[in-house]
Amino acid sequence: VTSVRDEPGLRSETIRRANLSSIVRELHANGPMSRSGLVRRTGLTRSAIRGLIGELVAGGLVAEGPAALLGTPGRPSPVVRPQPDGAVVLALDIEVDSLAAAFIGLGGHLLDHVRIDRPRGHSTLTAIVTDLVELVDTLNARSERATRALVGIGVAVAGVVRRADGLVSRAPNLGWTDQPLGDRLARALGDDVQIYVGNEADLGALAEARRGAAVGADHMLFITGEVGVGGGLIVDGRPFTGVAGYGGEVGHVAVNPDGLECSCGAIGCWETEVGAMRILRRAGRTAVRGRADIDALLADAAAGEPTALAALAETGRWVGIGLAGLVNVLNPRLVVFGGLFERIHPYIGPIVDAELDRRTLPAPRRLVRVVAGVLGAEAPLLGAAELAFEPVLADPALWLNRSDVDIVETAKIAVRRVVA
Ligand SMILES: [Zn+2]
Repeated sequence: VTSVRDEPGLRSETIRRANLSSIVRELHANGPMSRSGLVRRTGLTRSAIRGLIGELVAGGLVAEGPAALLGTPGRPSPVVRPQPDGAVVLALDIEVDSLAAAFIGLGGHLLDHVRIDRPRGHSTLTAIVTDLVELVDTLNARSERATRALVGIGVAVAGVVRRADGLVSRAPNLGWTDQPLGDRLARALGDDVQIYVGNEADLGALAEARRGAAVGADHMLFITGEVGVGGGLIVDGRPFTGVAGYGGEVGHVAVNPDGLECSCGAIGCWETEVGAMRILRRAGRTAVRGRADIDALLADAAAGEPTALAALAETGRWVGIGLAGLVNVLNPRLVVFGGLFERIHPYIGPIVDAELDRRTLPAPRRLVRVVAGVLGAEAPLLGAAELAFEPVLADPALWLNRSDVDIVETAKIAVRRVVA
């Protein structure tokens, strides 16, 4: 093994690639920035920045525009922006109630997007993959341009995922046990680009941390759900997934030993008290129309309907009971509500805070704030895109060397696989 230290040429190449990475990360996360802004944010010299940006412009990942008039003294500095078409990912989202696909460009630009409702209940892997391929086909048909620089595929799924190969070990609300989602999607969509599969709550957390309510929060807990309830955790600025990616399953923490049987087989899991089905049942309603049932309940709550408000209040109490234990264990700075909890936050926020006051140790209680997310239903989809962008962000140099022929071939393969 040759150490990097022993090889000056190799070392400077490693440094060059790391510097390209910090520039692309900065632009991807924060959007257009002046050259002098990049100098400040990356700590690189002006001349180094000039050379590296030249490479990135030639490789199509960034574009440089005329200087913005900043009203500050000195020579105006050209503005550098991420080039959305320069690196595009396909993001897929498998929820219990819906499926979605999107092309997302560098900088997090949503280029095109389609979401369809699906009937609540169990479904085979084959049926879901077939539906996803159809969605991708729809996107391909109307935005051929977007597949030109496809760099990866990111997938969010409402289940417990092994990151290494995208095996879904459990997705109780889909009826899945040990389903090879990553492999099947690779066969259906093409194995010329890498497919990354993650849990939807982990990916929602990633999206809120990068572009949403939790930007800059180093210790953050994201709670999301519809029928099931999941959690995503950012610890020391990094996603926490456990040994194999199974971590963060807060929906299956026991909160009520006398409660209902959970889809996982245990009794009284948190999601049996705070999931969509229980909220509807508390309000005396049956769930038959999927997402529309919760829409109707929230419309009634907004109109002041007492059973709807009482159901939400009781749900808020159980949200607080479960959250208090998590805050005591994890000491997060921020708790962000996504999905269903983002939508009901206006009704349950004060009740959750009161439960936390009652049940949390004083020191972590003082440090934590509970807020609604800002990315809405698309947080997992946006997080899946971030997962797929990671290789480009980590080493953009690899993508600068792709010839036009490679890119066109990738697009053709993606389209052919989708059509086949
Ligand atoms: Zn459970």
